[in-house]
Amino acid sequence: MTVIVQKYGGSSVATPEKLRRVASLVVERKRQGPKLVVVVSAMGDTTDELLTLAKQVTEKPPRRELDMLLTCGERISMALLSMAIGALGEEAVSFTGSQSGIITDDNHFAAKIIEVRPERLWQALDANKIVIVAGYQGMSTAREITTLGRGGSDTTAVALAAALNAEACEIYSDVDGVFSADPRIVEGARRIEAMSYREMETFAGAGAKVLNQEAVRFAREAGIVIHAKKTGLEGGKGTRVEAAPKEQRAVAGVAVKKGALLIDADLTLDALWKMLDAYRATPEALSAIGGKVAFALDLENVPEAALLRADLEKAGARAREGSVVSLVGEAIGSKAELVRRAALSATGCGRFTVESHRVLACVDDGAAAALAQRWHREFLG
Ligand code: ASP
Ligand code: MG
Repeated sequence: MTVIVQKYGGSSVATPEKLRRVASLVVERKRQGPKLVVVVSAMGDTTDELLTLAKQVTEKPPRRELDMLLTCGERISMALLSMAIGALGEEAVSFTGSQSGIITDDNHFAAKIIEVRPERLWQALDANKIVIVAGYQGMSTAREITTLGRGGSDTTAVALAAALNAEACEIYSDVDGVFSADPRIVEGARRIEAMSYREMETFAGAGAKVLNQEAVRFAREAGIVIHAKKTGLEGGKGTRVEAAPKEQRAVAGVAVKKGALLIDADLTLDALWKMLDAYRATPEALSAIGGKVAFALDLENVPEAALLRADLEKAGARAREGSVVSLVGEAIGSKAELVRRAALSATGCGRFTVESHRVLACVDDGAAAALAQRWHREFLG
C-alpha cells in the first residue's frame, strides 16, 4: 500500500481559513487512494511568539522548558487540522512527536533524531485514517520532550518518510520549490528543477529557507527524494532533491543569511571553543592567524544568543551584526577559476572564505543584496 508523507509549513497553516484549505487539499489527495501522513508546522509566527513569551519571564529560559513550550505550537496545528479534516467527512487522528515514536538525543532545542518507531502511525493508517503529526519534535532516550532545531518540521517529514518507506515526501510552503536566489532580493532568480543532496544541504546551511539543512542531510543518508512545492498550486512544478539529478551545474545558487554575528577576537582557538561549546554554537567561515580569530555565528538555534554575545565581548571580542552571502556549487571550492572569479567580484565586500561546496563573504547587511545580485548575474545570469 502506498504511503505519502506531506508537510505543510507555518505560512500554509497560519490562519483557520488556511488550515481549512490545507484540510481540503489533504482530503482530495486521500480520495485518490494513498495512505497519508501529514506533518504540520506551528501556525504562522507562533514559535517566535512563544520564544518571546519565554524571554519575558526570564533572560535565560532552560532549554528543557523551552522545548516543552515550543512543542505546543505544532500541537495546536495538528489538532486543528485533524478537526478540519473530520469536518470534511474523512477520519483523521493527530499525534505528537513522541506518540509518533520519534526518538531523539538529549540535545534540547536542536535534538537529532536517532530512531523512529511508528507503531501507532501504522495502526492508524491500517484503520484507514489520515495521520496528522506535529512536526519539529520528539522524545529523548531519557523520555524528555525535545525540539529538532528551527525549521525542524521538514526533518520530521523526512524521518517519517524513511521509517514508513513512503513513496514520496512532499514539503509544501508558500513558494514553488527552491530558487537560485531569493527572488525578493535577486532579480532573475529561477526555480531549480532538480538539485543534489549536497547542493541543497549546503544551500540550506547558507540560509536558503525553503528546506531545512538537517532534513536534507537525513534524506541523503536515507535516500529519500524530497519534493518541495507550493501549497495548493495546481500545475506547480517545484523542486526535486535527489542523489544525482540529470542536469549538473557548477554553481547552483546564491544564498544570503541575515542576522549573523560577525566576530573578530584575540583569542586562541582553544579558548574560543570552550566558550562556544557551552552554548552548543558552531562558528562559520572561521579563520585563525597568530592568536587572532574571525568567524560568523548563526544564532538561530542558540536561545541564549544575547548571553553568548556578552561573554564574547567580555573576552575582548568585537561583534557586529551582518550577513553571510554564499555562492553554492558542488565541489566549487576545488574549482580554482570559479573561486578566483568569485573572489574578484567580491573585492572590498568583506572577508572572503572558501569551503568545499560554497564560497562565502561576511559583509555588512547593507552590502549583502548587491553582492548576491552581482554573483547571481555573473554565475547564474
Ligand atoms: N515551528 C518551528 C519553527 O518555526 C518548526 C518549523 O516551522 O519547521 O522553527
Ligand atoms: Mg515555523
